[in-house]
Amino acid sequence: MASKQAVHMKHGQGETSYARNSSFQKAEQNRMKPLIEEVITDLCSSTSTLLHGKIVIADLGCSSGPNALALVSTAINAIHNHCLQLQQPPPEIFVLLNDLPDTDFNTVVKSLVTLRQSKNPVVVTGVAPGSFYERLFTSNSLHVVCASNSLQWLSKAPEDLTRNRIPAFDIDEHARREMLPMVREAYEKQFRKDFKLFLELRAKELVSGGRMVISLVGTRSDVIASKFSLFPGIVAQILSVMVAEGVIDKAKFDSFYVPLHGPSIEEVREIIKEEGSFFIKEMRVHDPTAEMNIALSSPSKFVNNLIALFEPIIVQHFGEVMDEFVRAAELHWSLDVDGSLREERVRTSRAMLVVSLAKA
Ligand code: SAH
Repeated sequence: MASKQAVHMKHGQGETSYARNSSFQKAEQNRMKPLIEEVITDLCSSTSTLLHGKIVIADLGCSSGPNALALVSTAINAIHNHCLQLQQPPPEIFVLLNDLPDTDFNTVVKSLVTLRQSKNPVVVTGVAPGSFYERLFTSNSLHVVCASNSLQWLSKAPEDLTRNRIPAFDIDEHARREMLPMVREAYEKQFRKDFKLFLELRAKELVSGGRMVISLVGTRSDVIASKFSLFPGIVAQILSVMVAEGVIDKAKFDSFYVPLHGPSIEEVREIIKEEGSFFIKEMRVHDPTAEMNIALSSPSKFVNNLIALFEPIIVQHFGEVMDEFVRAAELHWSLDVDGSLREERVRTSRAMLVVSLAKA
């Protein structure tokens, strides 16, 4: 397996691009709005001595398309409105956007100018390509960090599985059921390691009293996850049909891992407490079923969403198999005779987690 998996989203503005298939994630960004506004109000209030006339805001895992600027735009508008209301001079704003180097930064950079059009407040922009599981910024340089729908992506597939060549999704149903607890544990362990590292790194980069608002796709705590997590599970089922058809090799399928983990709110809370650099200002859990249903409501929406999220990682591992994947995915949707897709849609085990943190 290649050491770095292509977990970036699908480039461009085409029908199957992330830019055109991210309304589910957009809804989550909207839910983060009040928390970002609260952070700005706190930082810009007259009693705060943190800013010294300038504020540095970073969005981590911004991707490309309309969502890339959404969080930082919310912050800029909040600064503008707050300062206008209190008739105080706005701070100068430095906005930094991060994602993995293979992201479609061409599109992102072109859109950045829209943030600079209003002269008041002064907005300066930049991009910081790299993994958020590494240092991205200088020490004590950031005031606000935002990240939407990105932290469920792990730095890599769980080592306990890759090292021991344990398939994440065994084609044999009995073996799959047997292995599920172990597979889940391996993903949980990798998430714990990665999220702790993320917190340590951001704690170095944020000023003391700096703030962070993050959202991620998680799992409902009250659901004993007896099934595979929604999207990776669906992708694996589609790919397993392609194995049966002889389109892809079984050994190749067995070594395919999607580095995604949807934690429960308890997992997230525990890791934040254990790591110790941040205290939790607020945590919210939302049920994404309504948006999920829209994303899966027609074969074309279903297939386009899968392509936008998973084409890069599938092509990297299996080569040019997307035509066959699309055909198998359409079939998967239409053959949902037992209603397992619909059933999963109705009783989705997913939960969207939003956390607002302050550096201690
Ligand atoms: N924030 C956007 C995009 C979410 S998609 C939105 O809410 O719509 C998830 C993004 O996280 C992808 O663009 C992916 O490339 C990015 N990502 C995943 N792992 C990352 C990492 N280790 N470092 C930086 N970005 C990462």
